[in-house]
Amino acid sequence: MAVPPILRLAIPSPLRRYFDYLPPAKTPYQQLQPGIRLQVPFGRRTLIGILVTIASQSEIETSKLRRAQYCLDKTPVVPNSLLQLLTWAASYYHHSPGEVFFSALPQLLRQGKPATSPIYRQWLLSSKDCTTDATILSRAPRQQQLVELLRYHPEGLTSSQIKAQLGTYQSSLRSLIAKGWVYSQEKPIYKSIPPSKEHLRHPLNDAQKAAVTTILASQQKFRPFLLEGVTGSGKTEVYLRAIEEIIAKSRQALVLIPEIGLTPQMVERFHRYLQTPITVLHSALSDRERLAAWLAAYEGKTPVVIGTRSAIWAPLPRLGIIIIDEEHDSSFKQQEGFHYHARDLAIMRAYQTKIPIILGSATPSLESLDNVKRQRYHLLQLLQRAGAAQTPRIQLLDVRSRPLEFGLSPPLLAALRYHLGQGNQALLFLNRRGFAPTLICHECGFAVPCHRCDAYMTVHQHTNRLRCHHCGAEGSLPTSCPQCRNLLLRPRGLGTEQVEAGLKHFFPEIEIARVDRDTTRRAGTLNKMLDGIHNGKYRLLIGTQMLAKGHHYPNITLAGILDADQGLFGSDFRAGEHMSQLILQVIGRTGRGNKPGEVLIQTHHPEHPLLTALVGHGYRHVAEILLEERRQIGFPPYGYLALLRARAVSPDSPMKFLEMARSMATAHNLHGVTLLGPVPAPMERRAGRYRAQLLLQGSARAPLQRLLTTWIPTLERLQAARKVRWSLDVDPIDL
Ligand code: ADP
Ligand code: ZN
Repeated sequence: MAVPPILRLAIPSPLRRYFDYLPPAKTPYQQLQPGIRLQVPFGRRTLIGILVTIASQSEIETSKLRRAQYCLDKTPVVPNSLLQLLTWAASYYHHSPGEVFFSALPQLLRQGKPATSPIYRQWLLSSKDCTTDATILSRAPRQQQLVELLRYHPEGLTSSQIKAQLGTYQSSLRSLIAKGWVYSQEKPIYKSIPPSKEHLRHPLNDAQKAAVTTILASQQKFRPFLLEGVTGSGKTEVYLRAIEEIIAKSRQALVLIPEIGLTPQMVERFHRYLQTPITVLHSALSDRERLAAWLAAYEGKTPVVIGTRSAIWAPLPRLGIIIIDEEHDSSFKQQEGFHYHARDLAIMRAYQTKIPIILGSATPSLESLDNVKRQRYHLLQLLQRAGAAQTPRIQLLDVRSRPLEFGLSPPLLAALRYHLGQGNQALLFLNRRGFAPTLICHECGFAVPCHRCDAYMTVHQHTNRLRCHHCGAEGSLPTSCPQCRNLLLRPRGLGTEQVEAGLKHFFPEIEIARVDRDTTRRAGTLNKMLDGIHNGKYRLLIGTQMLAKGHHYPNITLAGILDADQGLFGSDFRAGEHMSQLILQVIGRTGRGNKPGEVLIQTHHPEHPLLTALVGHGYRHVAEILLEERRQIGFPPYGYLALLRARAVSPDSPMKFLEMARSMATAHNLHGVTLLGPVPAPMERRAGRYRAQLLLQGSARAPLQRLLTTWIPTLERLQAARKVRWSLDVDPIDL
């Protein structure tokens, strides 16, 4: 008798393992392809799992294996290439395969809905009716109403739209259909953006030409490129040209960008240039739209997929190139649940698929620069700004013992007056929203804390509220000091709201746009603001890092960084790197047209080596300083980190669990790995939970991975693990 195949499934459970099943009864074996979904018994529940591999034997005796109930799919919903990436990701990040696989799938597929493009039915008036006098229906007022309604909507209405207008309508609709006056049409809910007519392309300059030629020379093999070029140097033009070639050969392109909401112009440009349907994946899609987008990519209906971090999971069976724009951006790292880094996964995906990948940035991550040094990545540089744009003049403003009004020093104020007087736009950058980061009693010094976090409440004057930026807690502004009852409570420190108030005071005649998470919460407001900046309605811009990213505004000639010191003394080991990148991004926002730009950086530490290096010699110089620091402490890219985090309501449990985890680690091979901690997290209490962490530092990837592989699964069985929520973060970006 033939031995039945063993089905190895990823099941949405937090356990770090696959689960074996016998095939469902009466299923032809050829239907059992990796990538299909099956319904299976799991404990006392039934769950949906994804078939990952077919094995010939199991660790569990065949007689004890349970039988899967049935297959949900005739053909795989996860293509092979993606299956391979997901399997690798689960093992590299030591995360539960079920959670990894299911976080990649669209919600509707997770729920077991069919893998067919969702359609919706629209009802329309048939042409027959257009001439018909609706008074014929005078004895059927509901039908008459429906006809009237549809008459005003020649594009058609869905059932739910009709229902919203008329309430119950089904019987009237049936009568009208029977008369032949109304008919229905099916439309896919998902629409790829239709190509537009305008076609924009530039003759490439020499550096761009060289880059494109080199990239296209290795179309059939894995080759990572670091495309380094300041903002405006023409990187996007290089991506577009490369993609154009690749999709002309019926292959697909995947483009990851940090944030789509912030860069509608980028999507628009791809669209105009490539003149092909483009699938845009972002967090605002509905479940149905997401499924439709998934299927469109899978079936090859759209050759180009653009998306944020999670688009790394797009099913692209004919993938031919991957682009990661702003590769240094920390939004590519998922910070909750399954902690993956989309850029690193993209490198693996390109490797598995044997295709080129371009990492683009003006300020490459230290990891990528190191990979260039080790000749793992091929460096392509665009040293000049494309077109007519000139590099802006950069200057440090020593603000020590200078009067600051609303955070503005006299020279910065003078520069604002000058540039606005010339009819140009100016941008001010401050990475702190709200009015002020603390509310302090002038009498006793009491600062109003958050009750759930080790942090202070931020003053939001616009809404008259106190808000915690770590847990979202809110309260009204107290009128007297909770400690000494004095009435002299004062906002202290600077936030974007306060700067906006100051700008209104100094420039009452100029329209100001404040761009931060508070002003852009409502859908559509950000786009409106960006439009207003673009068409010159707003000439003064104040914002957080949202404003620093990716926009192209030719009329900005002055950028002011209000507080460069914010990033100089952060506790996080990447603080210096991130600050330098952010400052350079702000610099990149100026002088992009044909007007020269100027950048002023306010600081209390004008001699700080990072700032002087940045202004005097540019990013590469800063990167060298930072790399040397990392080398000395054995941090990435000269060492490999993993962070075991734990949190709990009770203050002691996280440390207890981590102590135990640490002592368990000693039973494993610790060669090449150093354990640091456990220690309480930098902000120990957050949202009412106490947090602690244990850092693992490996001299290379292999010893660290070896330890994690044997040690992490043992933690699942620890009694102390039940009292905490714990997670592992491989390659953490902040500690
Ligand atoms: P980046 O992606 O590096 O910021 P872009 O590709 O967006 O740079 O180019 C910056 C600006 O210069 C854009 O307006 C683009 O249309 C223009 N540009 C790019 N390449 C050229 C070129 N070879 N000749 C003229 N203009 C160009
Ligand atoms: Zn809080």
